[in-house]
Amino acid sequence: MSLAAIQSRLTAACAAHGRAPGSVQLIAVSKVQPLDRVVAVLDQGHRLFGENYVQESQAKWPDLRARFGPVQVHMIGPLQTNKAKVAVELFDAIHTVDRPSLAEKLAKLAQARGASPQLFIQVNTGAEPQKAGILPDDTDAFLTQCRAMDLPVQGLMCIPPEGADPAPHFAMLAQMAARNGLSGLSMGMSSDFEVAIAHGATHIRVGSAIFGARDYG
Ligand SMILES: *Cc1c(COP(=O)(O)O)cnc(C)c1O
Repeated sequence: MSLAAIQSRLTAACAAHGRAPGSVQLIAVSKVQPLDRVVAVLDQGHRLFGENYVQESQAKWPDLRARFGPVQVHMIGPLQTNKAKVAVELFDAIHTVDRPSLAEKLAKLAQARGASPQLFIQVNTGAEPQKAGILPDDTDAFLTQCRAMDLPVQGLMCIPPEGADPAPHFAMLAQMAARNGLSGLSMGMSSDFEVAIAHGATHIRVGSAIFGARDYG
């Protein structure tokens, strides 16, 4: 696969499901990828990336932004509260607001800076014990809490359980967003982004299908 191949699959999925072209943002997930692969995608004009680790992003994106100009980078990995300050300075969006203590920290930082990245609440749609995210039953209340802190919550994010049919999880997330008046839906990865588009995804997070397999060695 390649960036161009994924873009054309994205366009085809939008057409197939009556979605406006341009209503789905493609986040190229560059975590752990060799720099030359990231540069190749930047050279093709892509300007929206996703990262999972604050330190890796700090080492990479200030240089790449200096070289390529404005690039949007979204944090899609778990965020430790003690890295929140660096994160709000580095990222244009954080997709993993998953607990009250992090929301409180982000609210304090937003107040102090007079600005905040776009925020997505991560929902543990499969209620998996080992997975981060707000439980579905708690999400409406958590959102109310975030709004009371003036946090700019744009939408919801989920990672369906491994090996499960993702469709019911995407449908659940879309329903929760709709009933709460949220427009953003961060869902869909290399293996299931077309299903996510069918269910209303506004942000798909695609890594290996663009860059090739990740080598964690
Ligand atoms: C790594 C990662 C992705 C990209 O996964 P691929 O299967 O390589 O597309 C998407 N979302 C999250 C939260 C990730 O951690």
